[in-house]
Amino acid sequence: MEQDELETERKIKKVERKQKKYLKKVSIIGVILLSIILLVLLIYFLFVPKITLIGDKYIKVEYGDKYKDPGVKATYLGKNITDKSWIEGKVDENKLGVYHLKYKIRKNKFTSTVERDIEVVDTKEPVITIVGENEISVCPAKEYVEEGYTALDNYDGDLTDKVNVETFDTEVIYKVKDSSGNEGVSKRVLNRIDEEAPVITLKGGDTYYVVLNSTFTDPLYTVSDNCDEDLTSKVTVSGSVDTKKLGTYELSYTVSDTKGNTATKTRKVVVSEKKVTPVSTGNLTCGSAGVIYLTFDDGPNSYYTPKILDVLKKYDVKATFFVTAAGPDSLIKREFDEGHVIGLHSSSHDYANIYKSSEAFWTDMNKIASRVERITGKKSDLLRFPGGVSNTVSRKYKSGIMTQLAKEVEDNGYVYFDWNISSGDAGGLKSASFNGKVSEEISNVTRNLSKSRGNVILMHDIKQTTASAIEEIIKYGKNNGYKFEVLNKNIICHQRINN
Ligand code: ZN
Repeated sequence: MEQDELETERKIKKVERKQKKYLKKVSIIGVILLSIILLVLLIYFLFVPKITLIGDKYIKVEYGDKYKDPGVKATYLGKNITDKSWIEGKVDENKLGVYHLKYKIRKNKFTSTVERDIEVVDTKEPVITIVGENEISVCPAKEYVEEGYTALDNYDGDLTDKVNVETFDTEVIYKVKDSSGNEGVSKRVLNRIDEEAPVITLKGGDTYYVVLNSTFTDPLYTVSDNCDEDLTSKVTVSGSVDTKKLGTYELSYTVSDTKGNTATKTRKVVVSEKKVTPVSTGNLTCGSAGVIYLTFDDGPNSYYTPKILDVLKKYDVKATFFVTAAGPDSLIKREFDEGHVIGLHSSSHDYANIYKSSEAFWTDMNKIASRVERITGKKSDLLRFPGGVSNTVSRKYKSGIMTQLAKEVEDNGYVYFDWNISSGDAGGLKSASFNGKVSEEISNVTRNLSKSRGNVILMHDIKQTTASAIEEIIKYGKNNGYKFEVLNKNIICHQRINN
């Protein structure tokens, strides 16, 4: 028994010794490991530079937009050394995709790196731009005629050809998708209304003269309407003229469009003992009420035309120039380029030549017509006879020539214009002094202006007085509520034909 206890005690002691030896070994390894960790930490803190991202690790940039890098912060021992850092990789904002950027800093042979992904994306939808108004009035029964549109995308560029247009009764929807699937939509509202009355234009003027005991034939009228086609046949005329009795008679012309908008116009018919040629041409309607149509004949002129054009530009007024062979191409080009209308006035302005025969007239007129077309690229269909259609000078060269030419002009697709206000600049100014002539010209125009009709003013851009008077004439018109417009084919301004 005693022997056994001793043996056990000895065994325990042996184990204890072994354990002590082992513990000693373990603690030595522990100390070594701890020292290594401490050393690594020490190296890390003392020798390795630090770098951190500013901003997100993943950034989206719209295609085409400039990518601005938010940067990094680099430090070493608490000191800012960001300026020593560099970036590897590049972002191409003009190419869709993901770009990988590496930011690096190096110190004591240690390099630290952070990374960031930049994705160049296309999320912008194409922009559809409507030509004209977004909301327009369209005649009730009429088909809407597309006024146009454009589609532009930041990535695909011009997508106009790809636009899908759906036309409904009261709206038009425009849609287009870019290659990234972004959809642009635009809309035009169509207001189906017609509130505009037709416009009656009386041929032969608002006042018409008939000789006693002659036969009165109504010189007729034309009707234009924003919605309806030809309404001329729908006009009803009331009133009558008794040419056996002197006096002033009234004829009333009425017409309604399909929506019931009605227009009425009255013509005075004067039955007189003798044939009356109206001295004043002021009763011609000549276009829209309250509008001034400045017209300049006989030019261009190298001295005065540019002066007149400068004034027109200053006041943003457009005029009509009835040109001849005078003056350089460049001035006709300038007139056209600055938004004025070019009409034809003959090439030679030589009465003896142009009024001797129809052939001679057209040979001369075709010359100026092709010159204008060559310079402007556009055929002019407006014309003014030298001396006007009412001139009597032409009798000297050929009887009845004006009657014949007036018809031929229309047969050939032209519209001719006379005037209802003359500035007198062609020789009608009586004052002795130049300044007197200028103020006479201004007064000739301004005192004859009327709000109840169009005002087609005859002037000549080859005249010094006109170059001096034009600014005051425009100022007067603007200050008194007149609008300035150019002549067009729908305006009738015809004086009486006397030959
Ligand atoms: Zn002339």
